[in-house]
Amino acid sequence: MRNVILVAGAGGFIGGQLVRNFIEQGLSVRAVDQKQVKDWYYRSPEAENVVADLQEKSSCFRVSEGIEEIYNLAADMGGMGFIEHNKARCMLSSLINTHLLLAARDNRVGRFFFASSACVYPDYRQKDAHSPGLKETDAYPAMPEDGYGWEKLFSERMCRHFREDFGLATRIARYHNVYGPYGTWDGGREKAPAAICRKVALALINGTRDIEIWGDGQQTRSFMYIDDCIRGTKLLMNSDYVDPLNIGSDEMVSINQLVDIVEEIAGVKLRRVYNLDAPKGVRGRNSDNALISKVLKWAPSIALRAGMQRTFAWIYDQAKARAEGRSFVAAFD
Ligand code: NAD
Repeated sequence: MRNVILVAGAGGFIGGQLVRNFIEQGLSVRAVDQKQVKDWYYRSPEAENVVADLQEKSSCFRVSEGIEEIYNLAADMGGMGFIEHNKARCMLSSLINTHLLLAARDNRVGRFFFASSACVYPDYRQKDAHSPGLKETDAYPAMPEDGYGWEKLFSERMCRHFREDFGLATRIARYHNVYGPYGTWDGGREKAPAAICRKVALALINGTRDIEIWGDGQQTRSFMYIDDCIRGTKLLMNSDYVDPLNIGSDEMVSINQLVDIVEEIAGVKLRRVYNLDAPKGVRGRNSDNALISKVLKWAPSIALRAGMQRTFAWIYDQAKARAEGRSFVAAFD
């Protein structure tokens, strides 16, 4: 029977929430990740949970047997601190997408989704904190983020050529910074919203007064709440649109403004220590949502303040549990 959905990278942040959403809808899911199931952010007894290294071609062929749709959210990735220092590891994720595409073609999978990133956009369009939102056509002439961004751009094109040459229906989202509960919040792979929530939470728990900020805090970004990400992913997958599409918020803020929001939520004011030597990424990045609004008749809209409130509450609980020697409890068990 061919109604099973494969979620690759199901032990991670976005993959975990996608599995949760499908299970809540009553759909059949094969959830795959290389991490041990006990370490997944979300695990459901209703899903078929499989541990496999999807850089291996044989694993991709095995897990895609009898599958109707593949969502590829598996990648060796993290925030700026990780991708600036792990370019080869990021590029090796091209093995995952390539082998999954081959398996999808040969196992006659109906539709294939690839999670690309705003890191495909060239540095030369993001040099100013007030750079205009990035349009899909801005990706070329190509000069993406070294390592991670090149892998994403290459894998986007693999999807396109598998569609054109082999007739595999592929869909490609360019996610802009996704945040929310049940994601990476420490350990070096976390992104700015989670890192700032953790630092503010630890200041409250430990009674410290300082917060370290990477860069001068004036670099700008937009951040999309996980529920918008899941909704946009499903809308795109079920649409007829085949080219890469931004799925991101266009509510641009500076990192200083993001810290303001978290401080306000936590009811604390901290002394800011700017680390100008830390990895900073591009100067200004925002999503242009004209195309998504046109083709999906929808765009991410959850306000940053509302999403950060839920994210801070979850990260505070994790940090507090750890400080009290209680073990991390995975979500939704
Ligand atoms: P994540 O790190 O939380 O999840 C990725 C998962 O992939 C991890 O659980 C990891 O164990 C798994 N994985 C890595 N290598 C694997 C392998 N060889 N075999 C099987 N599983 C493997 O990341 P996320 O935030 O959930 O991101 C999901 C996807 O979306 C990734 O492709 C990422 O590049 C993309 N993306 C995320 C963001 C964001 O802000 N979170 C932004 C742009 C793009």
